[in-house]
Parts: sequence; structure tokens; C-alpha cells
Amino acid sequence: MRHIAIIGSGPAGYYTAEAAQKLWGDDVRIDIFDRLPVPYGLIRFGVAPDHQSIKGVSRRYEKTALTDNVRFVGNVAIGEDVTIAELQQFYDASVLATGAPRDRELAVPGNDLGNVYGSAEFVGWYNGHPQFADLAPDLSGRTAVVIGMGNVALDVARILSKTRDEFAGSDIVNHALDALTASPIERIVILGRRGPHQISMTPKELGELMELEQASPQVETSDLPDEAEDAILEPGLRKSVAHLRSFAAIPHAIHGEKRIAIEFDFFASPVALVGNGRVEAVEVERTEVVKGRAQGSGETYRIPASLVVTCIGYRTAPIEGVPFDERMGRFANDEGRILDGLYCVGWARRGPTGTIGTNRPDGFGLVELIAADMESGKLGRQGKRGREGFDELAADRGLDIVTFQDWKKIEEAEHSAAREGSPREKFIAIEQMIAARGS
Ligand code: NAP
Repeated sequence: MRHIAIIGSGPAGYYTAEAAQKLWGDDVRIDIFDRLPVPYGLIRFGVAPDHQSIKGVSRRYEKTALTDNVRFVGNVAIGEDVTIAELQQFYDASVLATGAPRDRELAVPGNDLGNVYGSAEFVGWYNGHPQFADLAPDLSGRTAVVIGMGNVALDVARILSKTRDEFAGSDIVNHALDALTASPIERIVILGRRGPHQISMTPKELGELMELEQASPQVETSDLPDEAEDAILEPGLRKSVAHLRSFAAIPHAIHGEKRIAIEFDFFASPVALVGNGRVEAVEVERTEVVKGRAQGSGETYRIPASLVVTCIGYRTAPIEGVPFDERMGRFANDEGRILDGLYCVGWARRGPTGTIGTNRPDGFGLVELIAADMESGKLGRQGKRGREGFDELAADRGLDIVTFQDWKKIEEAEHSAAREGSPREKFIAIEQMIAARGS
């Protein structure tokens, strides 16, 4: 029998479990741990609430969760309630699938001013993550600056722009829905330190900006390179740039009909956040792109901002005793191997890039690696006690484990509490989640 612990119940965790289940069938026991009482990580807390079709992938994870040899062990924080070393005593392989839940810091003066948030915080707030549900960003101002030109910046700009009707069918939490739809915001500036050819936004997500009821995307034609230069771009990026071109072609009269402008400001690197206690402006330096890199020109200007959200990437949270690559912001690893018997997968392995689907080959590849290590005898003694040993430790410590069956009860309560047309109203406090599973 093989015993595998997977830490983190997001996409990387469940794809790894699926792969192990496929490979070893009845010869494996897999425990999937999560510090929260609810599964699915990024799917629940990262994917935008108005992207329900993407969230639908959790049905596939549920299939894995319901197979006999896979168990969800919620409400247990590995590295706090139980150490990695303790886990390794019981399981042949422990896999860190903890994602990258922390914000990369925008290292400029003023980054600690009020109403400046990282995307992990801001997205966590509107997605009802227990750690950020109380964020209470002040949305009473008229200008927001969103820093970064990736898909998360697009999510944030879109969520800031939608009407209550446009949130129909989403699972945005009520507190965020009320705050967002009461906001008088009228200008959202998306700042990119490089140019239109260097964006990390994908076509479908850019296209959504054209459909917004009360907001219109704006691009300065003078920022766009000659159209002939698009030919060298890879097809996805070329499509994205085509969207930027269509934004630039929107007639002024149409902009005038919409309350909110979403302005793309290219060649603009933030050099300071300015304000007195709370942010009032972003100081920006004009750049030019030289050999693919942003180079400052010395020319600066200020963009008024009552709210700033940095969407510049994420970092994995370190765990005591696990080697960490500070520069890359993820576990130090060689193709997923950290130490004998200790592995990482997904964003915790490769950093915050790629789509949800990228985690599937990642999980399957890691299981092959673990199988090879088992085969070669690298994982040491067989006959570890697996979940039986863990359960004894958990009972000794009085850990209150939330099972997958408990989660199904929590989920049912969330479905019942949903406002009309919404799939669920999420519990945002851990105690509420635990109470909802009943006795
Ligand atoms: P990302 O795609 O890596 O984009 C980060 C952006 O931040 C880049 O434009 C980057 O510019 C900029 N940036 C980094 N440091 C900066 C600094 N100091 N000053 C100014 N700008 C800075 O990251 P993300 O948007 O967080 O997305 C993470 C991953 O999740 C991506 O793979 C994304 O596609 C995926 N995702 C997908 C969806 C979807 O499919 N619907 C939704 C959300 C996220 P440079 O390029 O110049 O470094």
C-alpha cells in the first residue's frame, strides 16, 4: 500500500490525486489536506465570481474526492497544526500543492498607504476568503488604478465596473456586491510598465470588456505599434492585441454613453504611491521598451487614485523546514522534488503562471516522478501507517477535521442561502462553515 498526503485542495492538489488514483487504483490511499474547512482553493477563492463556467471544473475534482481511496481532511493547517516532519512519518510521499496565495510586493515608496491592496487581498475580499472578507476597501472615490497587465488585472477592472444586473448568476459575496454596486467609480486606469505587445492578458478575457453595460475600454492609438508588427506575435497574443486595436477604434460618442472609462496606460511604470495616510495618486515614470525590458525615461506624471490594486503576481507561503526559493517566491525544487519524500506541484512548484488546465499535466507528471522514486527505493522504508497514524495524532491534538461529507452539508447550506439566480452565498467565517456541517 502507498500512502500519499497532498497539502492543498485546489486544482494542482486534485489533479495530483486523480493521477495517483488512476495509476495505483486500490493500492493507494490519498489524504488531501486543507487549512480551510472547504475545498478547491483557487477555484473558490481566486477564479472570478462571474466566471462560473470555469468554476465548473470543481465537479471533476468532486469525482476524485468521492472515490474510495481519496479523503478530504479539511480544517487542518500543515506546518501549524501538524509539521511536515510529522506528516512524513506517516506518508510515503507528501506533496505541497499550496499554490501562491501571497501578493508579490510592489516595492515603491508609499506602498503601505491606506486603500492600497494586493490582488490576493482584493480578490479574496470579493470572493469571500475568510482571511480577507473584512478588508472593507473604500470604494467611495472616483478613480482606481490597477497595476499590472495580466488576467488578474482584467478580473479586478471588470469586477469594479459591473452593475448589479451583470452580477446575476455569479457567486460574488453579498458584502462585496453591495459595496461595488454602490461605488461612484468612473475611471479605472490599468497600468502597464511595458507596451501592447508585452501584455499577459488573454483574448477571451479582453473581449469581455467590450460587453460591459456601463464601462468602456479605452486605448490610445498612438500607443499601438504599426499593425504590420503584429505578424511576429504568437497567435494568442496577436488576438489580444487585435482587441486592443478595436478598443482604440471605439468612437468617442460611445465612451460618452458609458459612466466608467477603463483606460489602458502603457509604458507607465509606478515609481511611488502618494498620499497622506491613504493613497491619493500614483506617480508614474514613462518608459520605453528596450530589448523587451521597460526602461525609465525620467519623465514622470501623477494619476489621481482613491484606490490602488496591485495585480503583479503572487508568491507561495513558506512552510517551516521546507527549502524556499526567495527570489522566485516558491519552494526550492528540482522538477517537483524538494527533499526525499517531499514534493511540490502547481504554482507552489513553478510559480503563478498558466491556466487551471496547466496543473493537470503537472499533477500527472509529478505522480510519474513519485512512482519512479518509489521504484528506485529512494523513498526509504515501506509500511508507513498512512491515515491511521495521522488520525491518531489528530485525535491526540484534538484537531477538528472537516470531511468531504461535512463539506457537502456546508455546500448545501450555501446553496440554500443563495440570492435568486446565484449558485451559492458563501460562508465567509470559518466558524460559520463549521457550524453549517451540523452535528
Ligand atoms: P501575470 O499574468 O504574470 O501578470 C502580471 C502583470 O504584472 C504583468 O503585466 C507584469 O508586467 C506586471 N508587473 C509585475 N511586476 C510589476 C511591477 N513591479 N510594476 C508594474 N507591473 C508589474 O499575473 P496575474 O495577472 O497575477 O495572473 C496569474 C496567472 O493566472 C496567469 O497565468 C493568468 O493568465 C492566470 N489567470 C487566468 C485567468 C483566466 O484565464 N480567466 C484569470 C486570472 C488569472 P511585466 O510583463 O512587464 O513583468
